[in-house]
Amino acid sequence: MTYNKIKQFDNKYYFKTYSRQPLALVKGQRTKLYDTNGKEYTDFFAGVAVNCLGYNDAEISKTIAKQAKKLLHVSNHFYTEEQAKVLQLLLDGSDFTRAFLCNSGAEANECALKLIRKYYYEKGVDKPVIITAESSFHGRTLATATLTGQPKYSLPFAPLPPAIKYVKYNDIAALSEALTPDVGAVLLETVQGEGGVNPATFEYLTAAYALAKSKGVIFALDEVQTGVGRTGKMYSYEHFGIIPDVITLAKGLGGGVPIGAVLARGALAEAFKPGDHGSTFGGNPLACAAAAVVLKRLKNTPLINEVEQKGVYLNDKLTELRVLDCVADVRGIGLLVGLQLKGYVKGAEIVGKMLDLGYIINCCSNNTLRFAPPFIITLQEIDAMADALKGLLSQF
Ligand code: PLP
Repeated sequence: MTYNKIKQFDNKYYFKTYSRQPLALVKGQRTKLYDTNGKEYTDFFAGVAVNCLGYNDAEISKTIAKQAKKLLHVSNHFYTEEQAKVLQLLLDGSDFTRAFLCNSGAEANECALKLIRKYYYEKGVDKPVIITAESSFHGRTLATATLTGQPKYSLPFAPLPPAIKYVKYNDIAALSEALTPDVGAVLLETVQGEGGVNPATFEYLTAAYALAKSKGVIFALDEVQTGVGRTGKMYSYEHFGIIPDVITLAKGLGGGVPIGAVLARGALAEAFKPGDHGSTFGGNPLACAAAAVVLKRLKNTPLINEVEQKGVYLNDKLTELRVLDCVADVRGIGLLVGLQLKGYVKGAEIVGKMLDLGYIINCCSNNTLRFAPPFIITLQEIDAMADALKGLLSQF
């Protein structure tokens, strides 16, 4: 199908939820994507921080094909070896004791929220309030859009689930004040990805954790974007020397196949009883087979170390652009880096111009360009992208 035909169908039939870029992608190879005209793009967005092993990774492709012939889907009424393997990879030797497998980040956060509420229900304790941060992003279901500390994602869909309170991010005094006796949990991101690539400071996150612990409040981290290697550690909480009670994962976990997970520990992990939660597709054999490839690759090869090194390189390269008038800030960790532009340059326009030059980047909140390439991005590709961006931004 031609691009025009594809676009026509989309415009006519799809809910008007997306402002799409003016091209249709047809295939990918390693860090490159190709559109209907055969034009090549180097991908610094990875399908919103998903395709950690790039495109057409030989092992993922082979595993999926093999799995499709063996067993594509069975219900969670039965055990499968594929699920058992993923559980083993996620939990053996980890900080967590149990997991739930689902299909997306929003579902993982919904599950975590239900788990937290069930935990207090079982204890007979009335602590319904969940604290999240302003500018956070936790998903698009009604509950997770409400957990998201950006009213534009929830207000049009009122009435919203109650008992969710927002605090200023990186402000420990605000969190301390908000921790009233009715608060059951604090849910944060270590880097607010959608919210503008805002990293938590070490002081904030460690103090937030200590505060939650001292008040007997559950400390939950949304690692949907930061987890599974993206920040140069398996999970981003490892940068802070803390162990959350529960984390949520998705995005990179399946290397492009939809899968999400909730990992919890201690009594919290025991809160669900049969029937409390479930999913038709969650943890199905195909998704689990793909996730097992990703987890093994991250555990058994130096890839996560490479993320750290390449992340520093990307950060340095973008920081060099701070000499340009229009660059306000560069921040991030690992291969999740943001370059904030001053208001007179529109980030969305830069994304379009970079596409013309053959680079896929993204613009998130706060006029911030977001870079979240596959982990197999090369230093040469980072150099070339940074040069192209410099050329563009020098015009402002
Ligand atoms: N949580 C975080 C931190 C995210 O970045 C996202 C998506 O961008 C989500 C949750 C929602 O994930 P999904 O789109 O898979 O539902």
